[in-house]
Amino acid sequence: MKPSARFACFAGCDERYPLDEVVYRCKRCGALLDVEHDLDALRARDGAAWRDLFDNRAGRSTSGVWSKVEWVYPDIAPESVVSFGEGASHLLRAERYGRSVGVPDLWVKQCGTSHTGSFKDLGMTVLVSAVREMIRRGRPVRAIACASTGDTSAALAAYCAASGIPALVLLPRDKVSVAQLLQPLANGALVLSLDTDFDGCMRVVKSLTDDGSIYLANSMNSLRIEGQKTVAVEIAQQLGWSAPDWVVIPGGNLGNIYALGKGFMLMKELGLIDRLPRLCVAQAARANPLYRAFKKGFAHYAPVTAERTAASAIQIGDPVSIDRAIRVLRATNGVVEEASEDELADAVARADRTGMYNCPHTGVALAALEKLARDGHISSTDRVVVVSTAHGLKFTEFKRAYHAGALDGAPSRHGNAPVELAPDVDAVRRAIDAHLGA
Ligand SMILES: *Cc1c(COP(=O)(O)O)cnc(C)c1O
Ligand SMILES: [Zn+2]
Repeated sequence: MKPSARFACFAGCDERYPLDEVVYRCKRCGALLDVEHDLDALRARDGAAWRDLFDNRAGRSTSGVWSKVEWVYPDIAPESVVSFGEGASHLLRAERYGRSVGVPDLWVKQCGTSHTGSFKDLGMTVLVSAVREMIRRGRPVRAIACASTGDTSAALAAYCAASGIPALVLLPRDKVSVAQLLQPLANGALVLSLDTDFDGCMRVVKSLTDDGSIYLANSMNSLRIEGQKTVAVEIAQQLGWSAPDWVVIPGGNLGNIYALGKGFMLMKELGLIDRLPRLCVAQAARANPLYRAFKKGFAHYAPVTAERTAASAIQIGDPVSIDRAIRVLRATNGVVEEASEDELADAVARADRTGMYNCPHTGVALAALEKLARDGHISSTDRVVVVSTAHGLKFTEFKRAYHAGALDGAPSRHGNAPVELAPDVDAVRRAIDAHLGA
């Protein structure tokens, strides 16, 4: 029996579609789709055999996604795959920062150390490869489109450019960083800068992709989840095939929390790990619909109008994967935390002082970690992994505003400014002595 996968209705209808069909929702009930793997076929290997297989490939495959092809898109033709060696990212031992917040066994999964600087590469390699597979099998796809808060569009533009497929990206004007705007421009995408927010861009792109000739790359598309779920496998593998006690991840549209949960649950199901971690979604207080629902025991969910936050990639008021997120949070006894602008910027600055270079979204996760540690949810002996979702170098305006004391909603307690001096040795010596306290 060979591994195989197909789309299935997330809400549980009996609908099934092949992975090369252009379809994003259940045709019967309208729910999102989920890529469903043939578990009996995967069980042909036991947990130890899967661990050995992934360990053996780790040194040889350059992609952390395609080294787990059986769990991602089992029967894709190798010539359809377009890869930038995504995944296989470093799991950083954050000892000095961890001790300072009472969580010495702290690790940071560096998903932003990637071709376009965010974890979006993990999903986009699968989506664009799947479109190449569709085209190879004769489907008339003219282009791929997405609405984005900046990182999805960068990833889409790069993978499309490598494939020769036109990329169309819809961005909320003035709400992405300069680097995020330049990435798709450099890669030759058509960049449509709309005078609205992410949720507004999403509404437009949904209509554009209605007829199927332009393929939709947003995370309502469940193919991306399959690539992103390999982060869970890498974390377990890097911890000697064990689950940490907690994983904290920033959440906006909430596809990534679902991917993380799905990855851990599949590993447990197939015997690679023997327990699940507890998951925490961290949201910006200015864009916190999941946090509000969590406070009501998930009994009631309502979209919000997201306000401007430094964590711009998670400035989303109506997350498409809300039901997916709630499902994995329930399955892992998970929690949701929020962080103010001050809390996220302060956490970034203190963590940066220990050698990291965090993006604001990772700051939201670090601030959530600190709150969970303070209120006793996370204990000092717990092993915790924080998922860092993007590279800090994509967010230069945020860093510059913070260190200049000009960040909205956040005093710069740890700001650091250049000391401007004449090229005079004595003046320089005096500055060094003042700094070192000599
Ligand atoms: C997309 C993104 C997120 C949010 O991921 P979701 O799947 O939308 O919850 C967080 N951080 C960064 C840097 C991102 O680009
Ligand atoms: Zn359905």
